[in-house]
Amino acid sequence: MSNQLQDKTQMVKDILESVRDVNLYINGSFVAASSGKSFENINPFTNETINHIAEGDSADIDEAVLAAKTAFKGEWGQMKVKDRLSFIYKIADLIDEHIHEIAPLESYDTGLPISQTKKMVARAAQNFRFYAEMVSSRLVGDTYPVDDEFLNYTIHKPVGVAGLITPWNAPFMLETWKIAPALATGNTVILKPAEWSPLTANRLAEIIDQAGLPKGVFNVVHGFGETAGASLVAHPDVQLISFTGETTTGSEIMRNGADTLKRFSMELGGKSPIIVFDDADFDRALDACTWGIFSFNGERCTANSRLFIHEEIYDAFVAALKERVDNIIVGDPLDEGTQVGPLAHRTHYKRVKSYLDIAKEEGCEVYSGRVPESFSTGNYVAPTLLLGADNKMRIAQEEIFGPVMTVIPFKDEEEVIEKANDIRYGLAGYVWTKDIQRGHRVAQAVDAGMLWVNSQNVRDLRTPFGGSKHSGIGREGGYYAFEFYTEQQVIHVALGEHHIPQFGKKK
Ligand code: NAD
Repeated sequence: MSNQLQDKTQMVKDILESVRDVNLYINGSFVAASSGKSFENINPFTNETINHIAEGDSADIDEAVLAAKTAFKGEWGQMKVKDRLSFIYKIADLIDEHIHEIAPLESYDTGLPISQTKKMVARAAQNFRFYAEMVSSRLVGDTYPVDDEFLNYTIHKPVGVAGLITPWNAPFMLETWKIAPALATGNTVILKPAEWSPLTANRLAEIIDQAGLPKGVFNVVHGFGETAGASLVAHPDVQLISFTGETTTGSEIMRNGADTLKRFSMELGGKSPIIVFDDADFDRALDACTWGIFSFNGERCTANSRLFIHEEIYDAFVAALKERVDNIIVGDPLDEGTQVGPLAHRTHYKRVKSYLDIAKEEGCEVYSGRVPESFSTGNYVAPTLLLGADNKMRIAQEEIFGPVMTVIPFKDEEEVIEKANDIRYGLAGYVWTKDIQRGHRVAQAVDAGMLWVNSQNVRDLRTPFGGSKHSGIGREGGYYAFEFYTEQQVIHVALGEHHIPQFGKKK
């Protein structure tokens, strides 16, 4: 047996030994769902059952909220910031220590290639470290002196119980992207992970348990969106909901949370343009474009799923893309060399496949790479180009969320800006040109929250993350997350004897 195969066999053995049936984590204990129910967790590579997951519902949410509320009023709420942050650093260190086993678990559960989950897990540790640093350096108020009469100032207080609802596409990383700022700013948390990717959320609960946080500060309730998720949203003692997921789910959550006047952060779907002008650095644009759509199996909210390519270089660029698609390594997510793995779930696989039929019906050329026959049990969709598309087509307007890129030619700047913006989404965008003035101009003209010029999606954790239009409301990242996870309070202090009207005083 080759060394690589031996490593993989050992990895699978380790995963299977570590994976037990999964419980909820409430008030510092791992417990079964109060209903006793569980649901199957399926391996996207084999479509076999991995294990069973406790199926939380409103009764479990009630218990978790009570625990979180009690912790907020108790030890966690009273704790000195320095002590609180030492827990956050501890969580980061523990994640780093366990990367070698969290990354394979994530790949096993989601189908994401292991070379990519390793980076995601490292980023998860970084999320905790970053927010510990941000809170100690940037969670500061303002002062407003009013001559010698008043000193007014603001402070940031944690909001209370935070409900965090997350998707399956990059679960561990996205969960920590919310948990880190929520906890570092002093809130308590109930995480409702996606039902298709529960394993690393549970591993995170074990790590947080090991870090020794007080009981009830962090809770995980697995279960379905319509039951566990909806109860969390409707709960009167949950002050805020941070949601990442589909746009339609986001609207429903906002409707369901309206009666209890929740604060919402919404990170929703995308169909982001990449615009490649004829003067672009051809090879770098090609690398970025290919990575941007086919990494994370195309299940990436900021994927460049709409390529606008200048007509002068259309043929050459498409020929180069076809060559890349032919050569992308589609494989077992646990193989180091794999570039594209199986999609997270059979239902999602069918949905992505259906768009290939729609593309044909709409008159596109569908150009796909190859999935080796030995992988027929997995949810594989080959890397695919939908060529000769028009921006009005469904395959150009709807989020497919798989390794599928819609390719549209354009003539000039004005036309491409109009087309890039002619969509309900506004999450991200990418511009490739050597003309730096045009680069800035076009980037600023695209209606989206985040733009990259001559760059792939390189995140700077200090900058605001989020989308406009139907891609989201609010911003996460940097100190922007403080707006959401803290309540600003202003204190007005009189320094002298300012005038106070004397109603009812006898003259
Ligand atoms: P989804 O909306 O189906 O589910 C997301 C989460 O919401 C899951 O935990 C689910 O159980 C829960 N949920 C579903 N219905 C609910 C309800 N009525 N009340 C409360 N919770 C409910 O999304 P998904 O399919 O898991 O994820 C893919 C989507 O996420 C894509 O659209 C993608 O673009 C988006 N996404 C956006 C970002 C971003 O930052 N903008 C990042 C990653 C993914």
